[in-house]
Amino acid sequence: MAEEADFKCLRCGHQFKAPYSPKDEPQERACPQCGSNSVRRIKEKAKGK
Ligand SMILES: [Zn+2]
Repeated sequence: MAEEADFKCLRCGHQFKAPYSPKDEPQERACPQCGSNSVRRIKEKAKGK
């Protein structure tokens, strides 16, 4: 089951959510705004426990 994580483009600063599944990492992502692949995950989804 994929969960969403927050990502930030290092080029234009655009932040967006994208599906994130640890078993599929590393995975290439492109910024939906500028198309750069300099995208980093900025925080983990809060772990509900
Ligand atoms: Zn961008």
